[in-house]
Amino acid sequence: MPTNSQSVGAHLKRMFEDATEETLRNLLSSKTTKLPPRVPGASLSNPEAVERRWKLLPNSNQCRDELFDPKTRERHAAYGGNIENFIGTVKIPVGIAGPLRVNGLHAQGDYYLPLATTEAALVASYHRGAIVISESGGCTALLLAEGVSRAPGFAFKSLIDVGVFITWALSQIDAFKIEAEATTRHGKLADMRVTVEGNHVYLNFEFLTGDAAGQNMVTIATQAICDFIKVHTPVTPDYFFVESNFSGDKKASAQSFQSVRGRKISAEVNLSAELIARRLHTTARAMENYWRMSALGGVLSGTIGVQGHYANGLAALYIATGQDAACVSESAVGITRFEALPDNSLYAAVTLPNLIVGTVGGGTKLPSQSACLELLGLNGTGHARAFAEVAAALALAGEISIIAALSAHQFTGAHAKLARGTQP
Ligand code: NAP
Repeated sequence: MPTNSQSVGAHLKRMFEDATEETLRNLLSSKTTKLPPRVPGASLSNPEAVERRWKLLPNSNQCRDELFDPKTRERHAAYGGNIENFIGTVKIPVGIAGPLRVNGLHAQGDYYLPLATTEAALVASYHRGAIVISESGGCTALLLAEGVSRAPGFAFKSLIDVGVFITWALSQIDAFKIEAEATTRHGKLADMRVTVEGNHVYLNFEFLTGDAAGQNMVTIATQAICDFIKVHTPVTPDYFFVESNFSGDKKASAQSFQSVRGRKISAEVNLSAELIARRLHTTARAMENYWRMSALGGVLSGTIGVQGHYANGLAALYIATGQDAACVSESAVGITRFEALPDNSLYAAVTLPNLIVGTVGGGTKLPSQSACLELLGLNGTGHARAFAEVAAALALAGEISIIAALSAHQFTGAHAKLARGTQP
């Protein structure tokens, strides 16, 4: 609900215009009438289980044909490990942007990026940014840090107990490592951070996760550490939880710039004045002016980090390639910086500290997601670091394109044309 008095008043007036207080009370109260049948067979993805679920749904024939189409039916087994109560697949349009030339520590070459979205203008914008970067010789992209954490929390009776526990925990890091690494071939316990709040202790266990994004891996490994703690701790906590909401999982958080969640990447590029004029129809000075105003707009509105629209490209890339799309909430945090240089060229850089990405595990093995990774040339073992550098390069392409469009006053026109088929 809005908070200023005029809007609250208008909102309530609209609410009561069509309904009496009694009707509203009825609508909003809990109901005890008999529930319809529950969806059956949670983990089964075979056609019989799928048909049983569809039978529950009203007006379902046409919807079923759309979602449980012959190809999905044929491949039902592939989805079982990634979804419960399976009823089919949603088709999302995929566009291809590029080539995007990346001169990275791990990503080397010209990439065509599959982007899955229903938002018109998105692929066009990233494509334009990618072409400009590539024509300038490519962007440099550098993996700066890696690590995924799980953060169990322990509640003790007193600060004295907290002190005893932490002293013991610090002496047990080698034992924690053995317990954790017994659960995984690729996960490695790299660090442990300790935070105390009153009689609560938060331990952030930070892991290297190989080519996996790693959230399941670190949960399972941390559970093993917690089980060890439960047996061996010299002071028993009143209670503890395997995750205390301190890891940054699926949320933008203030710790983004002090540490890493997934892979931290910086990408940078220099664009000449001629290239900016020819491809982007603007100038380095105008782009810097827009960047400065938008950076301060971000500060004034309290954003974490300063960036334009990392979420657009990352969401589309994540959905296409089987990343956990919800991790865009933490991945789309970072800093964009644009500076006009004395020769009227532009220095543009992005830094993204929380790219939670993998090229194995999670949704990466699903049929079309695996095909998209294959298109990128980054499917499977040995490619996660390159994938992260490419994702950061994509974010840079998006920032260049949107800032160019806004600084050249073309932003509204491009959306009106591509999304509505009209000119403003
Ligand atoms: P995963 O598919 O659960 O685990 C990755 C698997 O790949 C492991 O079995 C690992 O084996 C194996 N693997 C094979 N080659 C590997 C290589 N080169 N590098 C790394 N691993 C390799 O996926 P995950 O990445 O751990 O977790 C991602 C999933 O977790 C996403 O689907 C996400 O939605 C979900 N998620 C879970 C939580 C949670 O708390 N559980 C939270 C958020 C998201 P080893 O382990 O033996 O190395």
